[in-house]
Amino acid sequence: MDNCLFCRIVNKEIPADIVFENDSVMAFLDIHPTNKGHTLIVSKEHFENLAETEDSVASELMIVARRIAPEIVKAVGAEGFNLITNNGSAAGQVVMHTHLHVIPRFSDDGFKHWASKEVSKEEMAEIKNKIVSFLKE
Ligand code: AMP
Ligand code: ZN
Repeated sequence: MDNCLFCRIVNKEIPADIVFENDSVMAFLDIHPTNKGHTLIVSKEHFENLAETEDSVASELMIVARRIAPEIVKAVGAEGFNLITNNGSAAGQVVMHTHLHVIPRFSDDGFKHWASKEVSKEEMAEIKNKIVSFLKE
């Protein structure tokens, strides 16, 4: 897509610190890193988000994440990483082009895991039943 930021990076119209590239995906450093080494893995083809992404490309994103994340961790002396995708604006997606975030983590980086919410057993059962039935459609 002409006006999509990540399509323009993929097409090399906008510069980026590219760390990996193959036929279907590209990885480059996030311009506003959460931690040093924060890397985005994007599909080369434009899909709006992970849920909209073709299976073979979604698989490749995960394969590349597994391949490069340990090297990113090594490069910045981190101790672990989070692999995240924001799917939809309610989930914090700003760039509407499929991407995974690899965020290197340090035990003293101060980031906390998400808080949890109370959901009743009845509601849990209802949610589970809905998901199972939607998957059968
Ligand atoms: P999301 O909220 O999941 O859509 O994340 C979009 C990410 O793209 C953010 O973490 C931004 O910092 C990052 N970003 C925006 N513009 C650029 C750019 N030109 N090069 C690299 N990363 C970018
Ligand atoms: Zn795009």
